[in-house]
Amino acid sequence: APASKLLADAPYAEHLTAAIGELHAARLPPADDARWRRAVVEHVNSIAARLWRGAQVRMFGSSASGLHTRGADLDLCLLPPRPPHINAARRMISSIGVELEAQGMLEVLPLPSARVPIVKFVDRASRLQCDICVNNLLALNNTALLGAYARADGRVRPLVATVKYWAAQRKVNEPYRGTLSSYAYVLLMIGYLQTTDPPVVPSLQQLGRLDGVERIVDGYDVWFCDDPGAHGWSGSANTQSIGELLLGFFARYATEFDDAKHVVSVRLGRMLERAGKVWGEQQTAAARKGRRADRHLFCIEDPFEITHDLGRVMDTTSLGWTRAEFSRAHALMQARAPLAEVCAAWSDA
Ligand code: ATP
Ligand code: MG
Repeated sequence: APASKLLADAPYAEHLTAAIGELHAARLPPADDARWRRAVVEHVNSIAARLWRGAQVRMFGSSASGLHTRGADLDLCLLPPRPPHINAARRMISSIGVELEAQGMLEVLPLPSARVPIVKFVDRASRLQCDICVNNLLALNNTALLGAYARADGRVRPLVATVKYWAAQRKVNEPYRGTLSSYAYVLLMIGYLQTTDPPVVPSLQQLGRLDGVERIVDGYDVWFCDDPGAHGWSGSANTQSIGELLLGFFARYATEFDDAKHVVSVRLGRMLERAGKVWGEQQTAAARKGRRADRHLFCIEDPFEITHDLGRVMDTTSLGWTRAEFSRAHALMQARAPLAEVCAAWSDA
């Protein structure tokens, strides 16, 4: 296969490895980033605790999983003492929005009637772009899962940083335009790294699982092994460089993954057959208005909420853009283009 021929092409893979290392280093958050993020969490936490006795604020998303790069947004989750009804959650979003405004936060935008109610704002001191949602327990748990993958092998972080950068540069990381979220790209990368031969990371939802063990949160099993070393995983036997793995990632999604047949499943650590896979039928507002047919054109199973397809944001048009970008990256790499060219900013000129 062309992919394996390229994998043997050491000098080019070495260029990629060095370039990924540089890109990752340049995109690492600044030294005081963690302190700034913690300060925002504490500030919002004190606001929440004043509004609702016993309420707490937690960080999730890439700032909590360690998969964030310079300038990433700060995802916050408000945890009231008891799970709120959706209407109560909407009211909480409005109330905290008023309070954030009063505290001088910038660009406060409460979206209490959104499917997932959130308030957006920019922290005045750090200028971090922040989102607060309410009681999103699955997101807190999937963040912990992604963090465990980031710790499982040192190659995960630089590869994720590179793919997030590539997707942003090429404008295929814009969920509001129907392309995949950062979260979906992280799942694509982990799904690939689980299925190299030998695997770079195991399926942490399978490894060390005893029969019948479950941890149910909001109706879904969120159990995973967060100490692979203690469960027979003594590090990966895969010795490929990050350059070779990036080549393999683009080869996988440009040429090998057949979206008509397969589902990316990080839960199982292998490709799942599409036949027989049942997705949740909750309709998006867009689909109800008939603006976009509710199709599953490229399926990425959420690791916990297994009826949720993260590829469902894509319609034929945005899947076309995304496919074209995978093919472009793959073709440029076949032609041994420098990483900077693969990740060049998109322009319609
Ligand atoms: P970035 O560094 O670009 O901010 P991120 O990993 O924080 O990347 P986001 O897209 O900001 O990714 O999502 C933050 C978190 O929200 C994810 O880690 C995940 O827990 C949750 N999330 C995001 N999109 C979805 C989705 N479509 N379905 C379920 N959970 C999601
Ligand atoms: Mg984020």
